[in-house]
Amino acid sequence: MADDSCAHIAAITTVKHPKRRVCEECVKNGDAWVHLRTCQSCGATLCCDSSPNKHASKHAGATEHPVIASAEPGERWLYCYPHDEMAEY
Ligand SMILES: [Zn+2]
Ligand SMILES: [Zn+2]
Ligand SMILES: [Zn+2]
Repeated sequence: MADDSCAHIAAITTVKHPKRRVCEECVKNGDAWVHLRTCQSCGATLCCDSSPNKHASKHAGATEHPVIASAEPGERWLYCYPHDEMAEY
């Protein structure tokens, strides 16, 4: 079996936080979202998997940007999509 432990989260030394507390894609279309996530590769802030558009998940799949951070106040965790791994920071 391949080593499937996540090096993506370990590589993050400075966590990116949202520039604006909106989903960048949903605001363009006037859509609603539930929670926000910030891409740790490019800094895009997008909506979570409980949101109708799941923009953070789609972004990760389209761009191969693996790790997001919660952009919700008080939440301090990172999540890697390809490894399905979560870590607090
Ligand atoms: Zn990973
Ligand atoms: Zn969205
Ligand atoms: Zn990104």
